[in-house]
Amino acid sequence: MARFMVPKSHPRYWSLYYRHKLEEALEKGILAKAGMIAHGRGEAFDYLIGEKTIEPAEKAMKAAVAKFLLAEHPVVSVNGNVAALVPEETIELANALNAKLEINLFYRSEERVRTIADELRKYDPDVELLGINPTKRIPNLESERGKVDEEGIWKADVVLVPLEDGDRTEALVAMGKFVVTVDLNPLSRSARMADITIVDNIVRAYPYMIKLAEEMRSWPREKLERIIRNYDNGRTLNAVLIHVRDRLTELAEGGIWRRKEL
Ligand code: ATP
Ligand code: MG
Repeated sequence: MARFMVPKSHPRYWSLYYRHKLEEALEKGILAKAGMIAHGRGEAFDYLIGEKTIEPAEKAMKAAVAKFLLAEHPVVSVNGNVAALVPEETIELANALNAKLEINLFYRSEERVRTIADELRKYDPDVELLGINPTKRIPNLESERGKVDEEGIWKADVVLVPLEDGDRTEALVAMGKFVVTVDLNPLSRSARMADITIVDNIVRAYPYMIKLAEEMRSWPREKLERIIRNYDNGRTLNAVLIHVRDRLTELAEGGIWRRKEL
């Protein structure tokens, strides 16, 4: 694989950088081909949002961290796209939230699970990983898509399933799990079905959540409970749509032709 040679001065440097990461991950067997398409869809929504963390996402992250810190069996799920983009942060976040880490793939193959496990172990050789030998099945999902670890998602009360397929999100909600997702598309089925939807790029969201978790860990239970009680995911999703609408209106009124920065 050729080295990433784009100069930092390139206006789309970070976008190209993460695309390169995905290409590498595809070659290593971490990413399924469809993961490339999913990333493209995410990028498109990031353009509309403005490629920054917006207030509704900050609120969702705060509520999600509070929920995780109060959970009995919290689980953070990792798939190919996540392992390609934020492998180290995934481990750090699971640690900061005291959560288990489970490899959970939409296009599951034993080889890809092993490749992702090896990749994560590069960042922490002792990392505890579930999902290697899943023995349970999420009801109403056919074979490979439904496999979960008995010690992980199966018995979890709170799960973080970033960049997840809507069908699986819905099936987890139907199982009674409290589901948190990270998804740039506020209109996706995952975004609409989850209990907490963080509409942000995972490369921005995870570092932010790690900091939040470290800060909020010492907060009293009641304070965390209050944050969750006051959180309303419907309102969050509506606020994202309104943000996009207002941003597009402002851009249209200000004009974008030959404008260098948005
Ligand atoms: P759904 O099944 O929920 O309706 P979908 O079929 O459009 O969604 P999937 O491929 O099932 O999409 O899930 C991937 C989701 O992850 C997409 O909604 C995409 O917008 C989002 N996504 C892709 N890359 C990122 C990223 N870097 N950060 C956050 N979200 C992302
Ligand atoms: Mg889908």
